[in-house]
Amino acid sequence: MMVKMWRCIVCGYLHEGDEPPDLCPKCGAPKDKFELLDEEETGLMKDASLTKRKYEQIFDRLEEIREIAEEGIVLDLDEGCNKIFARVKEDIAAIHGMIEDELSGHAKYCIWVKAAQDGEMVPPETKEK
Ligand SMILES: [Zn+2]
Repeated sequence: MMVKMWRCIVCGYLHEGDEPPDLCPKCGAPKDKFELLDEEETGLMKDASLTKRKYEQIFDRLEEIREIAEEGIVLDLDEGCNKIFARVKEDIAAIHGMIEDELSGHAKYCIWVKAAQDGEMVPPETKEK
């Protein structure tokens, strides 16, 4: 049987389990402010949060690669190498942009918004520093 999923109608917090929590850990709303999601919505939420996790993993790996490219540029070995490192950085920025566009598309259906509320989707721009 599928795990039940509950949503705080006050703040959108999602909870997995047979019963809703006594108090919403996010906004403090009582148990009766939680609604049970139907099977279809539960499936969508699970897929959305799984996808979100994938993007987070991709962001983390890309950030590591971006740092490696940055270190390569600092070495300043020769023009050919610098070109490759610069290209790596450009491509990573392009992928970040694609993911952002995709996420804003998801938000239209409110799935991402809700899924993002219970986890921390780290926007790529905060990692650009
Ligand atoms: Zn809440």
